[in-house]
Amino acid sequence: MNNKLHFVFNDDKLLAKIEDGHVLMPNDNDLKTLGVTLNNLCFLTSKDNKDFLFGEVHTSLSKTCEFKFYKLRILISLMDNAFFNLAAKAFHLITWNSTYKYCSKCGTLVKNKEDEIAKICPKCGFINYPRISPAIITAVIKDNKLLLAHNTNFPKDMYSVIAGFIEPGETFEDCVRREVFEEIGLNVKNIKYFGSQPWPFPDSLMVAFTCEYGGGDVTVDGIEIDDASFYSVDEFPNLPLGGSIARRLIDWFVNYGARPME
Ligand SMILES: [Zn+2]
Repeated sequence: MNNKLHFVFNDDKLLAKIEDGHVLMPNDNDLKTLGVTLNNLCFLTSKDNKDFLFGEVHTSLSKTCEFKFYKLRILISLMDNAFFNLAAKAFHLITWNSTYKYCSKCGTLVKNKEDEIAKICPKCGFINYPRISPAIITAVIKDNKLLLAHNTNFPKDMYSVIAGFIEPGETFEDCVRREVFEEIGLNVKNIKYFGSQPWPFPDSLMVAFTCEYGGGDVTVDGIEIDDASFYSVDEFPNLPLGGSIARRLIDWFVNYGARPME
């Protein structure tokens, strides 16, 4: 019996059922019951993912249905890392599938490459891989306090750690130093790798670091960041949802970082 699970997206929302705090995906029978036909269907060919299919629909479902569309960014707090990464892969590939249709060299309609996740131009042979845009995210620590900033795109009272996209020619560490200096006006030192997380909104890979204050006064750029301070754990403002690497960095600080670094 074919009982594959499906990641079904409607824009950035994922079709799911939440039961006892767990996110459940629909299988073939569920989709049949819902009368859902998938567009932009992607298959994963790698061994460990063979039981998943990806696709998207452009209609909403009846409100009485037990499956609903939830923003993937919201579901992250209910998913373990491996599950979120798979959903992130699905969303990333669906977005890429719908945005890269023509060869960027000669304009011909491209085809899926059979042996890897790529598109190939049947005319000029140019191969396109899904774009992945790396970005750094960093906890800056000073005197057992954590730097938290309000990004102008955030909800009004939510604060988080500093993040930004890597520029051509930069190492991750260069990017940490530049972003913290540009956005907050501080120098940092003792940059250490923390972890990473796919962030397919639309195509990022967040690479997280911890570092220490190395000089300067907090001076926000007023464009991306409009407020920032060093906070001790007992004075933290509202924070990002659980599951994001931003929150994992903050939780790390609460558990381990609010002490002198080794
Ligand atoms: Zn071409």
